Amino acid sequence: MKHLKLAVVLLFAVVVLTLDASPACDVLAEPSVPVFMYHSISDVPVGKDEALSVKVKDFEQQLAYLKRMKYTGIFAEELPEAGKTHRPVVITFDDGYIDNYTTAFPLLKKYGLKATIFVVSDEIGKPGRMTGAQLKEMSDSGLVSIQSHTVSHQNLKNLTHDETEYQFSHSKAVIETVTKKPVRALAAPGGFWSKDLGEQASRYYDIAFRSFGWGTCKRENRFRVPRAGIFRSNTLAEFQAITRERSQTAIRTSDEANDRG
Ligand SMILES: [Zn+2]
Repeated sequence: MKHLKLAVVLLFAVVVLTLDASPACDVLAEPSVPVFMYHSISDVPVGKDEALSVKVKDFEQQLAYLKRMKYTGIFAEELPEAGKTHRPVVITFDDGYIDNYTTAFPLLKKYGLKATIFVVSDEIGKPGRMTGAQLKEMSDSGLVSIQSHTVSHQNLKNLTHDETEYQFSHSKAVIETVTKKPVRALAAPGGFWSKDLGEQASRYYDIAFRSFGWGTCKRENRFRVPRAGIFRSNTLAEFQAITRERSQTAIRTSDEANDRG
């Protein structure tokens, strides 16, 4: 009887421990893929946040490192199938700065690395932002995927359900008209995100990205994929460390903190 009691207690403990140890994302089964978030590539800082402009030489050194280490760039929307690719890496840009076309695009071509640009549909063609023709040219090159960063870059947590619906559906429609290709991925403006927003986004998109986090699990977190922000102050050594870390270990983050985006 004593043994039976002990067995029941042990069984209970094993069940509880197992439940506790099985997060939504199986870190052992899913190797992590580095997902980088850039904004502007410019020696002269653009916009009000200097940190968002990575210097041209730094960006080129980062791409050269990825190329040297035999990484293969895949589009953001291809992340769920990343397992088919040798050493996949996802390079993303937010907001649609003009230097993505004038500066980053030629370097992506030089190093043969694919990238994804999340554009704000209402800002296409505005001063400092890329035009529809530039987006189409990049999309047609097969090297750049143009995806959605909503209609007007508002904090989605402040919007009604219907307003958010418009941000998701209208941006997708506008960008698809520009590129003549499907828009399947979304990046949350400013990193403001929640589980409910992820569920709402899933009606229009196959995958959604936040602006912060340490790794990515491809299946369970498909509507809240974290990215590693690369900023002006990041050294090449830091970039290399981030790349290695995310390539080898899927580190789960429950950090829902809002951040730059
Ligand atoms: Zn943004």
